[in-house]
Amino acid sequence: MVALAELPVPIERSFSVGAFAGARFLRCVLTVVAVLLLFAAPGLAAPSAGAPAGEIRIGVLAFLGAETTVVEWSPVVKHLQTALPGRKISLVLLDRQGLDDAVAAGTVDFIITNPGHYIELEAKSGASRILTLDASPGRAPERAIGSAVITRADRQEVRAFDDLRGRRVAIVAREGFGGYQTVRRELASLGIDPERDFAELKTVGFPMSQVLEAVANGDADAGIVRACLLESRPEWATAFRVIGMRDEPGFPCATSTRLYPDWPLATLRDTSPALAKTVAIALLAMAPDENGMAWSVPADYQSVHEMFRELQIGPYANLREPTLMMLAERYWPWVAFLAVLLSAWILYTVRVEHLVHLRTAELRAALAVREALEARMRAGQEQADHLARLSVLGELSGTLAHELNQPLAAIGNYAESLHRRVDNGRLTDEAVREASSEIAGQAERAATILGRIRGFAKKRAAVREVVAPREIVGEAVALFRGMLANAPAVEVTDELPPSTSVEVDSLQIQQVLLNLLKNGYDAARGFGPERQRLIVTISRGDGNVRIVVRDFGTGLDAATRERLFEPFFSTKPDGLGLGLSICRTIAEAHRGRLTAEPAADGRGGAEFILSLPLSTAASSSTPPLSESRCANVPDR
Ligand code: ADP
Repeated sequence: MVALAELPVPIERSFSVGAFAGARFLRCVLTVVAVLLLFAAPGLAAPSAGAPAGEIRIGVLAFLGAETTVVEWSPVVKHLQTALPGRKISLVLLDRQGLDDAVAAGTVDFIITNPGHYIELEAKSGASRILTLDASPGRAPERAIGSAVITRADRQEVRAFDDLRGRRVAIVAREGFGGYQTVRRELASLGIDPERDFAELKTVGFPMSQVLEAVANGDADAGIVRACLLESRPEWATAFRVIGMRDEPGFPCATSTRLYPDWPLATLRDTSPALAKTVAIALLAMAPDENGMAWSVPADYQSVHEMFRELQIGPYANLREPTLMMLAERYWPWVAFLAVLLSAWILYTVRVEHLVHLRTAELRAALAVREALEARMRAGQEQADHLARLSVLGELSGTLAHELNQPLAAIGNYAESLHRRVDNGRLTDEAVREASSEIAGQAERAATILGRIRGFAKKRAAVREVVAPREIVGEAVALFRGMLANAPAVEVTDELPPSTSVEVDSLQIQQVLLNLLKNGYDAARGFGPERQRLIVTISRGDGNVRIVVRDFGTGLDAATRERLFEPFFSTKPDGLGLGLSICRTIAEAHRGRLTAEPAADGRGGAEFILSLPLSTAASSSTPPLSESRCANVPDR
């Protein structure tokens, strides 16, 4: 392409669209100026009858300023105007952003822009090249653009790209295709990142001769210009030197980069194919102007794509975002390691789940077996409790017949007495009243004894109830005394605060007390009547209730005391030796204790202490047994 920067123009500051980029107002002004210049230009022909009517708008990247751009492209306009009479050819001069906007809005029919910008528009807006500029006879259109990295001829220390590290480098603009991007690709292949490795990347703007100026006056150590710029003026060719020069056969200038195709002319999505064809045919027929500018069939822009892909810019900017695939490729050893780890973890989890499942099933089965066993044990225990109670009764029952015999004999006596009085005519109302009341009293006494025994002996499941200790003691004492013909006196002393209660199986605790009372009675058998008595004391201990059964019998020697609670230990000829061991089991099942001690007051005998935990629940609704009721137990 015959770009202005490559024309042999003197180094001077001229108008730069880049300086006004983004100013829509300016773009409008530029457009108007361009159109006016075109209409004022010679060679404008009147529309002919066969030519298609309407305006053809060509958007051009005007990075060198309006005037220069119009001068540069006026041969194209003139040629088209001549070739397509009746069509108005408008050159719309725009900066990069303006051109993007015009393409997006569909306000231009064709665009002429640099190769880099073109492939961006191709990807973004469907631009499609139909021609490539054939800018000079010495350069093939597909190998027309290269860049030269230059330094001052006398700067010997800067000879290769590597020498640019830590240097100040001047460029026209970061988005410049031949002015920067082409060199970036070469630097990247050597691992050099200008932004990171240069001391400074100095943007001087267009015209490109300003880069030469910066290098010449020492503002920069090196600069990037388009290939062939140095060759355009002999004094530049001697004042500057190209570094990192490449051998590009057939290319007439020194270049530091690979070569790329020249600027394309491209249609847009809405450009009609007929118009595209007409314009293409017209421009292919255009004879080279005095600068050698002509048009050729569209070149292959693959090299530009490759460059952008390598730099990951333009349409390939998304390559910078790491995709899953890229990450997998880059970190495959880690990915593989993690995959193995994950698989191992999954296998482990599945195995653990399986084992947990198995163990749970086993545990459930074991629990079911245990529950069944417990149920059987409970049933067995209830059976044993029942038998134990029957056994205590059995031990006491020798005297039961005699016990019941008494009221029955009394009843018989009264009945006979009545009979005799009837016979001898001495039956008075008073005698009948007295005898019948005695008979009723004796019958009630017998019924009470039997009722207690039945209640104690009945078979039932263990239950816990909140009850006052004195009530249990009272029942046990009454049962004990009711079953013995010559029961000893039993003193009950209750020192408990009112409403103190325990939560127990009353019958089981009665069973314990009955055993203790009977053992005390047995222990005192060989002694005189003064020792035939028992004392039951109910008191409050530390967090518990203490029921002490004290007798005045043989007492406990060391050997007996040691084996007292052993099953089958008995010193009695007819004893089973199970009573105290069962009693201790019952006490412990109630979280209580049963202990034995010789009486401490030196009057002989033993003390058995049953302690039971206090109930946390409210006291039983059953009224406590009063002292009087204990005293009312028949004393025989
Ligand atoms: P059994 O009454 O059938 O012998 P126990 O287990 O009730 O079985 O008692 C075991 C033994 O403990 C008794 O044989 C007796 O020697 C002794 N014993 C129990 N209570 C007393 C007591 N109050 N005074 C003295 N010895 C006792």
